[in-house]
Amino acid sequence: MPLEEVYIGIGSNIGDSAVIVSNAIERLSELPKSELVRHSSQYRSEAVSDIPQDDYINAVALLKTSFQPMELLLELQAIEEAFYRKRDPALKWAPRTLDLDIILFGSRSCDDSHLTVPHPEMQNRLFVLQPMFEIGGDFYIAGLGSLQYLINNAPSIALERI
Ligand code: ATP
Ligand code: MG
Ligand code: MG
Repeated sequence: MPLEEVYIGIGSNIGDSAVIVSNAIERLSELPKSELVRHSSQYRSEAVSDIPQDDYINAVALLKTSFQPMELLLELQAIEEAFYRKRDPALKWAPRTLDLDIILFGSRSCDDSHLTVPHPEMQNRLFVLQPMFEIGGDFYIAGLGSLQYLINNAPSIALERI
């Protein structure tokens, strides 16, 4: 089965987030049918939400996988749950122990009620774009433009590589 390159956005702002993010990367490296290619440094970012909350620790991992997108999403949700992620559908962008989002899945594009790729907010999130650039360099994303262009045009936020 062909392996596809998947960028995974990782975020945490409850608990010992630096440890949670590095343990989550460890879990990604143990996924079946997949191989962890690289991961970024950790970044501290200010939360962008109507709900006041602590800063986030973010990172991005690049995985090669033969999972289908929805299969991978279920694997990621199982990892989130292992880190006690609570999800309240009524609260968007609430604080969380661990968030694992599929940012890009090869060059695929899909939009259904469970999964949208490319992630619909990626162009608005420097805390995703900057770590992607760190591990993947500049490349073109169909329909959106180059990563460098997206970085130059994303809303500015406080973001610090740690
Ligand atoms: P955001 O997706 O804006 O970062 P969030 O990560 O806080 O918000 P979650 O509560 O983690 O949102 O997920 C809500 C739902 O989003 C999930 O149940 C999942 O089905 C759906 N979803 C859609 N597209 C994606 C994607 N690309 N990666 C992860 N989840 C996705
Ligand atoms: Mg998210
Ligand atoms: Mg999520």
